Amino acid sequence: MSDLDTFRQTTRAWLLENCPESQRQPIVKAEQIWGGRNRTFPSADAKAWFEAMAAKGWTAPTWPREYGGGGLSAEEAKILQQEMARLQCRPALYEIGIWMFGPALLGFGTEAQKQEHIPKIIRGEIRWAQGYSEPSAGSDLASLKTKAEDCGDHFLVNGTKIWTTNAHLADWIFCLVRTNPAAPKQQGISFLLIDMASEGVSISPIELISGESEFCQTFFDNVKVPKRNLVGELNKGWDVAKELLKHERTMMSSMESMTEKEDVSLDVLARTHLPLNSEGQIANAELRSRIAALSMEMEAFQQLNERLYYQHKARQVDPRLGMLLKHIGTKQLQRKDELLLEILGNRALSWETHRASSTEQRITRNWAFNKSHTIAGGTSEIQLNIIAKRALGMAS
Ligand SMILES: Cc1cc2nc3c(=O)[nH]c(=O)nc-3n(C[C@H](O)[C@H](O)[C@H](O)COP(=O)(O)OP(=O)(O)OC[C@H]3O[C@@H](n4cnc5c(N)ncnc54)[C@H](O)[C@@H]3O)c2cc1C
Repeated sequence: MSDLDTFRQTTRAWLLENCPESQRQPIVKAEQIWGGRNRTFPSADAKAWFEAMAAKGWTAPTWPREYGGGGLSAEEAKILQQEMARLQCRPALYEIGIWMFGPALLGFGTEAQKQEHIPKIIRGEIRWAQGYSEPSAGSDLASLKTKAEDCGDHFLVNGTKIWTTNAHLADWIFCLVRTNPAAPKQQGISFLLIDMASEGVSISPIELISGESEFCQTFFDNVKVPKRNLVGELNKGWDVAKELLKHERTMMSSMESMTEKEDVSLDVLARTHLPLNSEGQIANAELRSRIAALSMEMEAFQQLNERLYYQHKARQVDPRLGMLLKHIGTKQLQRKDELLLEILGNRALSWETHRASSTEQRITRNWAFNKSHTIAGGTSEIQLNIIAKRALGMAS
């Protein structure tokens, strides 16, 4: 038996022993566990499952053991993922520190910064927010104006960030700030970590069409930030920002698998909501063929994602392929949403009425919310510009 077979067996046994029955069911949004100083658990089972995974470092399976990570190889991490999927184990932790910030800090942070922040991310003790966009700096992010002045032992930060997801729940925020107004745009930016509890930080929620309110505008009014919170070199924050965006876009390309695990299958929904023919197929042949085509595309996309995952770990990835993922994945998800709505017909018009089942309401609300995926992390238009220039070599 190979080492990986043994790893699979011990992992399976460990999961069976440590993942309570109630945590072996599709996750619903309300029961996701997010990190943070004020984190809560939906049940004692959820807490036990989270704590077992965090203690093993499996909330960040491939991160180095010295910071509390799992220290697994890419192959082992894949096996863990497969075994968790086989048993339907819920993800133990949702956290942008895990998906986006941690990987960038592992690459650019000082040893002291890694020691300070990485273990807390793995143990879900600190929740992070992303402070990139500003009211007049979205796609053109490098024109950001929030400034950090050098005041000897600290920076003095003034300005505002917008669309900061869950800033009202976050403990810390990683921010892009202007440290040299005289330099060309990208060259005067630094990457700063700010404790949201600092004096001078305030937030204001923004409500969304989906009825949720997870967006905030975050204000910095003479906020003192210690110099040790600068990640990477002064005025070289753009490099850190780009690395982090790569992780954000990879995460977003597989958004469907991350957000809702109470999976709504196109085929299953169609079979329960639409007339079937005598052979048990969806009677509307045209719709049936579109459902089949999209299902195949989604399967192919998953396999592409998997291939890229291995290429990435083997450091053999073709960066041009990676650029396509976010664009394809988010568009595909929106096409699925459109089809789901078409299947529901009039029932998709329900928003909060008693006539709609909770699944139907969720489909409609997801349809509205998922429109944001082709905006967040860089809009599709900008992605297509990048693909045209950098992947296809087309002149601007
Ligand atoms: C769900 C969600 C979560 C987010 N979370 C965060 C967060 O936590 N932290 C954070 O900092 N930001 C966050 N954002 C903000 C996000 O990064 C910005 O919305 C995004 O970068 C686009 O910027 P903008 O909204 O200012 O649009 P704009 O840049 O004003 O763009 C408006 C439109 O013009 C198009 N456009 C702009 N420039 C070009 C061009 N050169 N060529 C072609 N078309 C162009 C765009 O594609 C878009 O359609 C989030 C956004 C969403 C939707």
